[in-house]
Amino acid sequence: EMKKLLVSSCLLGKPVRYDGQSQNLLHPGLESLKQQGRIVSFCPEVAGGLPTPRAPAEISQGRVLTQDAHDVTAEFKAGAQQALRVCKEQGIRFALLKESSPSCGRNYIYDGSHTGQKIRGMGLTAKLLSDNNIQVFSEQQLPALLAALAKV
Ligand code: SF4
Repeated sequence: EMKKLLVSSCLLGKPVRYDGQSQNLLHPGLESLKQQGRIVSFCPEVAGGLPTPRAPAEISQGRVLTQDAHDVTAEFKAGAQQALRVCKEQGIRFALLKESSPSCGRNYIYDGSHTGQKIRGMGLTAKLLSDNNIQVFSEQQLPALLAALAKV
């Protein structure tokens, strides 16, 4: 059986980003996975009940806040839990998530000051999946993901 993977919806061209845009990742390896029907598209922020477009949010001391200090931690946590549930239901062990997002960021997130500064860290969904033994890769690590998939 071909293993499936969870992919950030915005990387698949879906206009679900906070600003209503997408960031379509064009790569032959990803195209081939799509054609094999192995991609499960998921946006934790939409799943968590947030509208699109929405105010950008950043992680600050364990909470997720918009620039005007509206607390959206509950929505972000709900989206992360739903992502984990989808992975468990579908036996998914790999995820390809959008770097630097407060939900999907794999290696970097914004520092909470809403000034465009990035720090090392993980978004809430990336962290929850990773803590549950799902291998999480950012779009900048696509070759490593494809290599890992080739081994299973
Ligand atoms: Fe993309 Fe993740 Fe942000 Fe949704 S939450 S728009 S999938 S980066």
